[in-house]
Amino acid sequence: MHEKCGVVGVSLAEQDAARPLYYALYALQHRGQESAGIATHDGFQQYDHVDVGLVGEVFDPDDIESLNGTNGIGHVRYPTSGGLGACCAQPFSVSFKSGSLALSHNGNLVNADEIRDELAELGHAFTSNGDTEVIAHDLARNLLEEDLVRAVKHTVQRIHGSYSLTIMHDDTVIGVRDPRGNRPLVIGQVDDGYILASESAAIDTLDGELVRDVRPGEMIVLEDEGDGFDSYQLVTKDTHAHCFFEDVYFARPDSVIDDQLVYEARRQLGRALWEQEGVDTDVVIPVPDSGRAFASGYAEAAQDEGKYVEFAEGLMKNRYVGRTFIMPTQDQRERAVRLKLNPIKSTVEGKSVTLIDDSIVRGTTSTQLIDIINDAGADSVHVRIGSPAIRAPCYLGIDMASRDELIAAGKSVEEVREKIGADSLAYISADAVAETLNKADTDLCFGCVTGEYPYDIEGEPADRDVSRPQVDQL
Ligand code: 5GP
Ligand code: MG
Repeated sequence: MHEKCGVVGVSLAEQDAARPLYYALYALQHRGQESAGIATHDGFQQYDHVDVGLVGEVFDPDDIESLNGTNGIGHVRYPTSGGLGACCAQPFSVSFKSGSLALSHNGNLVNADEIRDELAELGHAFTSNGDTEVIAHDLARNLLEEDLVRAVKHTVQRIHGSYSLTIMHDDTVIGVRDPRGNRPLVIGQVDDGYILASESAAIDTLDGELVRDVRPGEMIVLEDEGDGFDSYQLVTKDTHAHCFFEDVYFARPDSVIDDQLVYEARRQLGRALWEQEGVDTDVVIPVPDSGRAFASGYAEAAQDEGKYVEFAEGLMKNRYVGRTFIMPTQDQRERAVRLKLNPIKSTVEGKSVTLIDDSIVRGTTSTQLIDIINDAGADSVHVRIGSPAIRAPCYLGIDMASRDELIAAGKSVEEVREKIGADSLAYISADAVAETLNKADTDLCFGCVTGEYPYDIEGEPADRDVSRPQVDQL
């Protein structure tokens, strides 16, 4: 199960947590549209409301009203292909001898089955096949014997893979990021306390201030009464595995990741794309909305070099058509692209066009758009892409597609160009991505690009030493 999701947690002095959590989840809706949930605690008991649907559909005012307490966590879950529904909605809650526990998880464990089997043998009963429940049970078990910090530390030593977690144990809210920091997590200060969230846009929504990113391997404990937070560096790795796809596609452009505004990173990548792979055409048009920032940087860099190139909207998006990516059949996905994007004929007719998008995954979008733009009378269509070619699956939280669905898997750029019907095609290099994000390439996860992963994934090669200590015998 590959889940990219959104997580949030707050601890406030006086205000009830539910409403700020609800707004924060709204701000993170792009990270998951399948289900949403909030768990709060008032010092005596935990309250939950979790259901399938968009944030605006899941909570009505009465639900928010019934979620008592100044502390809480929330979750939005991304739709993936099978085995879905209410079973996997989060926060995932368990109550046990030493209290209550609720967990929100973004990411994907690579050794969940192993731990589940061990815990099942010890009598733990599992209600889902999700990895979040595995974390919850492991942690609950540790909490029977040790304090929260030690319990989390021991769980972190056992679980492997990508995770950004918000956890509530009784009324204590904590955040944890996996030792390689694959998925994002930030801390912010709001009027009445502190917030943990997948992206800083959620903090903005609450008129808060971004404090900083949670560090890879770090645990943050929000103090009760919204007074501050404590930090515990549980594990330190010499290399990290930041997911570049967050910066390129997934995160909101108005979020700040590692001190860099995502919109600016994308514009810079667009500039680098011109510098590396520029092609002289009459007009540059973005694929809305994901290609916009890249296209504006690209066109600006071309103009800086004295090229006369128009930067224009050549495609209009019907905002009421969503989620073409996850439609089950190829035929439906193709129809959906046509429904979603319509060309502005005068922008492209009789012109050479550069079409810019953030990524090519299955190739549906670019194939269809090249067709549409050609039909609208373009002379030629050149495609420039703001990420490297995606050639391998993601096991760490971005639900891309299986290897045989990826158009670039096992193909050269020229072969992909031919397949999508472009006059020319170029991708940005992985080096330019690393440079733009101000990171060493050994601190990034390029698994979907190289097919080599910074985590120990069964049946796949690793791009570094990913050996791990033997899982402690329970
Ligand atoms: P393709 O049509 O090639 O399969 O997918 C590429 C398009 O889908 C791009 O426009 C990109 O913005 C978008 N995209 C890339 N990754 C994802 C994803 O994980 N989910 C969704 N919904 N769209 C994606
Ligand atoms: Mg797109």
